[in-house]
Amino acid sequence: MQNLSPVFFALLMLAPAVSAEVQSAFQQKVMQKTGLSVKQDAGTVSSSDCQQGAQADEGYWWSDHQAIMGTDITVELWHQDKRLACSAIAAVMAEMKRIDRVMSPYIETSVLSQLNRKGAYRPVFVGRELFALIEQSLEFSRSTGGAFDITYASAGRHYSYRDGLKPDGDTLAAAVDAIDYHNLILDVKAQTIAFSKAGVSVDLGGIGKGYAVDRGIGILASLGITQAMVGAGGDSRIIGDRRGQPWVVGIKNPRSKQDNVAVLPLMDISVSTSGDYERFFEEKGVRYHHIIDPQTGDSARSVRSVTILGAHAATTDALSTSVFVLGVKKGLALINSMEGFDAILVDGEGQMFVSDSLLQMSAAR
Ligand code: AMP
Ligand code: MG
Repeated sequence: MQNLSPVFFALLMLAPAVSAEVQSAFQQKVMQKTGLSVKQDAGTVSSSDCQQGAQADEGYWWSDHQAIMGTDITVELWHQDKRLACSAIAAVMAEMKRIDRVMSPYIETSVLSQLNRKGAYRPVFVGRELFALIEQSLEFSRSTGGAFDITYASAGRHYSYRDGLKPDGDTLAAAVDAIDYHNLILDVKAQTIAFSKAGVSVDLGGIGKGYAVDRGIGILASLGITQAMVGAGGDSRIIGDRRGQPWVVGIKNPRSKQDNVAVLPLMDISVSTSGDYERFFEEKGVRYHHIIDPQTGDSARSVRSVTILGAHAATTDALSTSVFVLGVKKGLALINSMEGFDAILVDGEGQMFVSDSLLQMSAAR
């Protein structure tokens, strides 16, 4: 196990792409490392406001899920005290709403919308939080060779996956010209951002949910909660275990709603999945979906889904989007070069690929 990221305990593969032998090797490793057995139904979440769930020891599991940021926000935690548990969950939900008000491109008054409206004309004061997240996004742009680029939105804003709309050739060509993170001019001292040309637009959809999840976990940790999960769509972060069980997170089969390609028993970790099935439409047999290759302004199509495991959700979120754009070869090379991360990819043919440390886990058996 020494080559594995310390927070990652096991991978229980269900897809035919990985042998039954590898599956049971992973499962055995969970038990060796954690002393826990894997219960597949652990981690289910109930609906409506601050639900009381199963009793565990002298406390209960509490949960809520709400539609915020255009996605499903889930909070689940263990605590003895109902009042503290429910107010902690409410605090996380309030934080999600606050972040949405600052960063949503769909809310006209958000700081991000103001930047998009005015950035080509003058530097826009964005405040410390948004400035820092945009700086972090630029770091990902640099470390992924431009695969992660929040100016993808210069083209991305011309698509509507719900209405099945895509830009015509001329619009797309002009938009692609505006995609380049170098087009953002940051002034650290003034906390302003400007665009170097007209047509540039930014969107934090590739990192914002993970950031919000990290913020939510930060709130729970500051309240002394030690066993919890915060999820925002495909991005989740877990602290602790489930009172003697690992948390169990399923990775969806990109082409079948009911099936998982893998089930991950996890604790103290973040996990993000980017998939071409989340928001898409099809035209003449071509799938147009929400993850854009900055070089073409078109959807990246060499893989169907990417899952990244690592310590922080903002990072796993940005990396899942990046590796989706990079594809199997370059994406795995990137993750294998980074300490403390693992990846599981499903390519365009449905074949599964995993990062080196996951492969070593089965070889070490
Ligand atoms: P995720 O589901 O985390 O992969 O995020 C997908 C979202 O990231 C999309 O809905 C866009 O808002 C945004 N996005 C799409 N393509 C890129 C890209 N190349 N770089 C950064 N963000 C992107
Ligand atoms: Mg992502």
